[in-house]
Formats: sequence, structure tokens, C-alpha cells
Amino acid sequence: MTIPAPAPTFGFNFDNTYARDLEGLYIEWQAALAPTPKLVKLNRALADELKLDADALTSPAGAAIFAGNVLPVGAKPLAQAYAGHQFGGFSPQLGDGRALLLGEVIDRHGQRRDIQFKGSGRTPFSRGGDGKAALGPVLREYIIGEAMYALGIPTTRALAAVATGEAVQRETRLPGAVLTRVAASHIRVGTFQFFAARSDITKVRQLADYAIARHYPALQQAANPYLAFLQAVSNAQAALIAQWMLVGFIHGVMNTDNMAISGETIDYGPCAFIDSYDPNTVFSSIDTHGRYAYGNQPTMARWNLARLAEALLPLIDPDSDQAVKLATEVITNFAEHYSSHWLNGMCAKLGLSHPEAGDLALAEGLLGMMHKQTADYTQVFRALADAVLGNEDVLWAQFGDNASFDRWLQQWQARLTREPRDPAARAQAMNSINPIYIPRNHQVEAALDAAITHADLAPFETLLEVLAQPFTPRAGFEAYATPASDGNAGYRTFCGT
Ligand code: AMP
Ligand code: MG
Repeated sequence: MTIPAPAPTFGFNFDNTYARDLEGLYIEWQAALAPTPKLVKLNRALADELKLDADALTSPAGAAIFAGNVLPVGAKPLAQAYAGHQFGGFSPQLGDGRALLLGEVIDRHGQRRDIQFKGSGRTPFSRGGDGKAALGPVLREYIIGEAMYALGIPTTRALAAVATGEAVQRETRLPGAVLTRVAASHIRVGTFQFFAARSDITKVRQLADYAIARHYPALQQAANPYLAFLQAVSNAQAALIAQWMLVGFIHGVMNTDNMAISGETIDYGPCAFIDSYDPNTVFSSIDTHGRYAYGNQPTMARWNLARLAEALLPLIDPDSDQAVKLATEVITNFAEHYSSHWLNGMCAKLGLSHPEAGDLALAEGLLGMMHKQTADYTQVFRALADAVLGNEDVLWAQFGDNASFDRWLQQWQARLTREPRDPAARAQAMNSINPIYIPRNHQVEAALDAAITHADLAPFETLLEVLAQPFTPRAGFEAYATPASDGNAGYRTFCGT
């Protein structure tokens, strides 16, 4: 008698708490069959972190897994329900219209991580959509998410990209793809809104208890765990948005369904980084009124948190006036938390170890001049470290022969005399947080264009290599450290849905 070989697990060791504990908050579903799946990219380092078998997943069997054609043992695919405010208007039913949660695994650090497909076909939440994703937006999410990770910013990550072999119809026919992404969870502000909008307090509570246990377990002991939860999400978002602002990242579509309660950046669509500093910068073609402009992001995060607060009100206090009062305090203190994260981060960018009175004005002075001179945000901060070491040439090239910049430079240098570190240590600290490489828009577009139009993945691979070490200058990558010669004027990003 021969004993049949066990089905290969590819290292997936699923433990699906969302499916187990939150029945009624999702619909079990299957991925559509991809005709000829082909692995475009596997994130081997992340696969290893998740204790997956990267070698086995590089085989054709791996492509079948990441296309959703073959289910790894233990996976229980489901579409999550959520609602959301999109550009200020409430949609009571969004949900995973082209995504499936495959399940959860515990990584090498003991952290629970969601494994999710994006672009895996229609679900009961698809509304008019085809449930598919095109290769361009999939690779874009791959690039930007991995860049954010390397910059030290909380984010979902890309595990794999697979071409399905099928064309998807957008404005033109485009190659279809599935992204497999990894997240602390996919619970959104909009997940709470879905059940709050249906006055299903039991499910809101069930979800809140689950989210607290999964993301903020210490709060289970708090006097008011739901209020503490709101505060924790608010703090996580304050820290996150400050980090976005400090590197010049624009999310582009900060709807409440695109805000994760874990505090990770999620749902990369029409996102992009600024080149020249301008708070009014908008890249997304659908953001016609600039609601999600670069400089509006803290305000919009706070607005979204107010929507989360509304969904949680019945849990916060049975007396609705008291609940509103408590929740409002949290929403109000967001500004303070955000500003403190931002100022600490901005001081570090300027080489200042602790904020002092006057540092805010110093930072704002520099930003104001950058705006006026259309200076490149990333290059200016990188050049400040050179100036610390006595080379001001790059900095002056950004500002021209300018008396007000000269005054600013003198103020900054006077401020630095009160700093304990020697210049070499200070410059090194600055260069460890001020990136030299960010995903420059023209480089991202060039990588996507080569992949889509010429099936040439070399520029995509090189860009990933550059962005994986954003703080370390490397010979041969000079072109990745500068903006496009014609700047960002007219640059537009699209949702790619
Ligand atoms: P997004 O703009 O990607 O954050 O998506 C907003 C909502 O639209 C979510 O509910 C998505 O699942 C849904 N959606 C986006 N694109 C598609 C598509 N091609 N097919 C079905 N649903 C989609
Ligand atoms: Mg979304």
C-alpha cells in the first residue's frame, strides 16, 4: 500500500481568527480562475519572515497559489464587509469587491499577519466592478508599499505579484494581475461604520473586542476599553500621518474605508511623493477639489477618526451626551498628538535632538522658502547634512542667491551650536532619517511602462533595489536621487480600479 504524499503547504500555517470569531462580518468566497498565471515577483525576504517556503513558491505551483487557482491547506478565503465615507459621502456598502482574505499566519516575530489577494475576481461586494486588477496598479502598490516599509513607515506589504494571463478592460485592455499583500489586519474605520450604519451594536462591539484583542490587547484592562481603543487608533494615526508628511507622501484617497485601525498605511491607489514642496499638491485625477491634498492629510485623518468615534459612541457610554463628550476629547487631542510627532520628526530632520521653543518657526521658515523657491523637498533635507559638514553648494543650488535663505541658514546654524553632538555624528543621524531615494514619480512610471508595454521587469527590479535602502547612497543610482527634469507639473495618478 502506498501512502499518499501530504498536500504541500508551502509553509502556510493558517490560524484564521477573523473567520472563526467574526461570523456575519464577511462572506466566504472563492477566487476566479486565472487562465495562465505567471509569477511576476515574489518577495522572498517577506516570505521568509512569514515562515513560507520561498523556493516552492517560486515554482509554477506558487504562481497557481498566488493567482488564487489553488488554495493552500488551511486557507479560508472570504470577502470582508465594510462601508466608508468616500470623498465625504457615505457608502453604506463597499466591502471586498475585488479582494479576498486568504487567512492569517503568525510570522517569525510572533505577529499575526493577514494574507490577502487583491484582483482575484468578483465577490458579492463587487457592485458594478469586475473584481480584477491591472498589472500597473499592482506593481505600483508593490513599489510604493515596499518603499514605505524601507523608510520605516507602518504599511501593508507586498508578498507576490502574479500576471493572470487575462486582459482586463479599463480605458484600454491591460494585462490582469493579482497582488498578494500582507497586513497587521484589514480592519478599517469603514468596517465599524458598516455595522454602525445598520444599528447592529452587537456586531460593532464584537468587532471592537476583536480589534482590541488583536491590536491593542493591553486596553482590555482599561476602565473604558472602547474609549481607550479610539484613543489608541487616534494616536497610531497621528504618528502615521506625521511620518507621511515628513517624507512627502500623499495617499491620495484617504476615505474611511482606506484607513486601517492598526495604524498601517493601506490601499495604495493614486498615491505619490511630492518633489517640490507645496502643501496644495494633489496628484490624483479623481481628487478634483483637493480634499486629500498633501497639506490636508492631518485634517482628513482627524475627520476620519471622528467617523470612527461616531460608530463607537454606543459602546463608549450608554448616556449619549457623555459618550459624545468623551469621544470629542479624543478627536480634539488628535491635533496635539499629531503636531508633537511632526515637530519631533522635523527637528530630527534638521539635526536637532530635542525640540526647543522656536524650532517650529525655524522649520516653518524653511518650508515656506522651499514652497516659494519650488525647492525639492527630499534633496533639501539631504543637503542639510552636507551643510553640517561644511558643503553648502547643493543647498544653495536649491534656493538660488537668496538673502532670506542666508538668514535662515544663519539662524539654523546658531541653533545647532546648542546641540551636543559633533557635526559628523549629527550629519550621520540626519542621513539615517532623511532619505536620498524616494519613489520618484517618473521612475515609478518608467518601471511600470517597461513592465506593461515591453514585459521588461528590469527597471521594476532595479527600482525595488534602490528603494530597499533609501538612506544609503550607492554608485550607479544617481538618477534615482533627482526629480524629473521637467518637474511634477501636470503629473496625474489614477485609481487603477
Ligand atoms: P479602492 O478605491 O480600491 O479603495 O476601492 C473602493 C471600493 O471599490 C472597495 O469596496 C473595492 O473593493 C471596490 N472596488 C474597486 N475596484 C473594484 C473592481 N475592479 N471591482 C470590484 N470592486 C472594486
Ligand atoms: Mg480601498
